Amino acid sequence: MKHKKIDNYIAGQLRPPASGDYLNNIEPATGKAYSLVPDSDERDVELAVQAAGDAFPGWSKTPAAHRARVLTHVADLIDENLDALALAESVDNGKPLTLATSLDIPRSAANFRFFASSVLHFRSESHATDNTAINYTLRNPRGVAGIISPWNLPLYLLSWKIAPALAVGNTLVAKPSEITPMTASLLANLCIEAGLPDGVLNIVHGTGPKVGAAIVEHPAVPTVSFTGGTITGQEIARTAAPLFKKISLELGGKNPNIIFADADIDTAVRESIRSSFANQGQVCLCGSRIFVEQAIYDQFILKFVEETKRLKIGDPLESDTNQGALVSQVQYAKVLSYIDLAQTEGGRILCGGERPASLSARCQDGYFIEPTVIVDLPSNCRINQEEIFGPVVTITPFATEDEVATYANSTDYGLSASVWTKDVGRAHRMAERIDSGTVWVNCWMLRDLRVPFGGMKHSGVGREGGEEALRFFTEPKNVCIKIPES
Ligand code: NAD
Repeated sequence: MKHKKIDNYIAGQLRPPASGDYLNNIEPATGKAYSLVPDSDERDVELAVQAAGDAFPGWSKTPAAHRARVLTHVADLIDENLDALALAESVDNGKPLTLATSLDIPRSAANFRFFASSVLHFRSESHATDNTAINYTLRNPRGVAGIISPWNLPLYLLSWKIAPALAVGNTLVAKPSEITPMTASLLANLCIEAGLPDGVLNIVHGTGPKVGAAIVEHPAVPTVSFTGGTITGQEIARTAAPLFKKISLELGGKNPNIIFADADIDTAVRESIRSSFANQGQVCLCGSRIFVEQAIYDQFILKFVEETKRLKIGDPLESDTNQGALVSQVQYAKVLSYIDLAQTEGGRILCGGERPASLSARCQDGYFIEPTVIVDLPSNCRINQEEIFGPVVTITPFATEDEVATYANSTDYGLSASVWTKDVGRAHRMAERIDSGTVWVNCWMLRDLRVPFGGMKHSGVGREGGEEALRFFTEPKNVCIKIPES
């Protein structure tokens, strides 16, 4: 069968890569190639940067209200094409179609809509200095921005960067993950339909070392916004620092999920299942280390394992599937190797840990792993320190607030945390003590797009979301006017 070839989107045109070469795009649920991704290189990046540079004077001078109208139009088109986009995302990524339909795609539209409206309310600043001078701050778009995104929430994370960058008047060269390129390629069509001027958004498909690196190194790209793994983030920082680029890095996590004995246990179990296994555990915010207060440890484990066993693993396209496939063979092998390591480190597997015994004929070669619950591991072992990014969770008992705060803060990461308790004072104390960009109390992944989002320690540099994102993509310039004495 001839597979559909995805195109790059450069200067308003859909075009093949300069090399003429393509990579197989694999459907994780079947393990088979179903489309072809451009294997682009620095020549395609060069064209895209030129197109973005040519479009910058016009787009940056376009009134914000007009930019907002175009972005709102893109949001409307995403909503209108919800089913097609969700199907593309599910096939590309292996996630349940129900998840793509209820979360990824609606939130992508919400990102465009949110930044389209927030740019209209972007505050400007002025300061009076002792009646001797007035300062005001201009915030101009920075030029051509490079946007690099991962495979776990493909359209959502791409739109989270594209929307604020375009809203304040930058033009872009974006590189989606080569593992999940399909929704970005559909987005290009929607941008054309919405009337986004040529060259304002350019999408170059291909690998990190060829396309991503060429974007980061390019002298005409002063801003780079990256979401992905911590090791890749280090490499990007190494390249960008001597070139004095402004960078935002949203990186990995090893998030604690802390359950005190006074919590509503049924809700804590239900939401902990979601935070452990949503998208097969491939969400940067997943709570992969659960800490449970000693008094309810046995009870929690019983309920948690019982609920985990009820999750239906299988074809992501079936409407009752809770757990789809992992995104790739590489990710599948990596997660299995961590499950082996857990046992070497002395962990006891309470459920999961294997490939599911029965899968439909279509999914026989897909990358499926049962949701896996592991106990009896110390908090400093590799399984409890390294990001696995799969359906694997550990559960550890604790006795005191001090002890669990130490466990929570014991990794290099600091992206997010959840705390479950009815004691308001304790909730505030824990929130203050945990080193992470977000602390949820009695909930998980409840998002308000206005709040700063990002990680501490090795989970990232900078914050996205709300005004932070609009500010990131602008260059502040202070103008100081002396008030003449009479
Ligand atoms: P990755 O770092 O392998 O790839 C991310 C993107 O970077 C891809 O588009 C890839 O092609 C590109 N890339 C790879 N090498 C590059 C290089 N040398 N120069 C420039 N670009 C390069 O990450 P992944 O496996 O796609 O995604 C999973 C990771 O992303 C996990 O660690 C997860 O925690 C993290 N993540 C973080 C957040 C967050 O908001 N903090 C959100 C989602 C995912």
